Amino acid sequence: MTGCPHFDQIRDVTPSANGCEDCLKIGDTWNELRVCLSCGHVGCCDDSNNQHATKHFEQTGHPLIMSFDRREHWGWCYADKLYFERMPALSRRGPWSFMARWLRR
Ligand SMILES: [Zn+2]
Ligand SMILES: [Zn+2]
Ligand SMILES: [Zn+2]
Repeated sequence: MTGCPHFDQIRDVTPSANGCEDCLKIGDTWNELRVCLSCGHVGCCDDSNNQHATKHFEQTGHPLIMSFDRREHWGWCYADKLYFERMPALSRRGPWSFMARWLRR
């Protein structure tokens, strides 16, 4: 449906923190949050001072993230630079494996 070959890297993850875990470590603040769909790393977006979500991709190669804001449903693949308009939101829609099935539909 999308041309992104990375959906099989989506795991049933638990978010690593209730904020950007790397910013929390250094005592900095962030703008918006992204959650890594491979390991649950929570990082800050590119509008933030530290851009930890992008750095997480550069360090780990985990390509797929989605917004950590439960009112938002979009996702993004760093590797393919592909935007996905709608991914089921964290926790409100149950286990993340549901999302993997949804994406393969
Ligand atoms: Zn991809
Ligand atoms: Zn950060
Ligand atoms: Zn990750």
